[in-house]
Amino acid sequence: MQFDLNQFLTKSTVPAEREFVLECSQDDFSGYRVGSPCQVRFSARHEGSRAMLQIAIHATIEAECARCLEPVVKVFELEQEYVTDLDQLQDEMCELPVNGRGMLDLDELARAEISLQVPQVLLCDELCKGLCPVCGKPRKLGCSCELQQADERLSVFEQLLS
Ligand SMILES: [Zn+2]
Ligand SMILES: [Zn+2]
Repeated sequence: MQFDLNQFLTKSTVPAEREFVLECSQDDFSGYRVGSPCQVRFSARHEGSRAMLQIAIHATIEAECARCLEPVVKVFELEQEYVTDLDQLQDEMCELPVNGRGMLDLDELARAEISLQVPQVLLCDELCKGLCPVCGKPRKLGCSCELQQADERLSVFEQLLS
């Protein structure tokens, strides 16, 4: 979705709001996928000669746990604010995705915020214990390796004693 930021700054006097759904499940993000379509809410209001922009993104992120490789699904509520004015719009270094006519690409803005704010390393749980070094299964699924090892250690110990 496009937002005419040039017109907002030059002609409009009232706040503006846009709500839309962004499909980016096919897009390349490093370390994760965006599961279902994102809900995006964008608003703009005047502050003197400047514009205060706000974006809020509801994104469902799918990834693999960095420790145990099990699937992880997490919902992120991302928010960001920007202040801009006409001079900035015409500046080639403008950080916002605007074209030469001052049209702001809201899809691109939302995508950029997702890749900036969603961490590339996700865990199923902060306390995830990862994979068992013996059998390779996620530890949270449970395996008896540790018990067996403990038994073996114990029996070595017993042999030493006998
Ligand atoms: Zn995990
Ligand atoms: Zn194991």
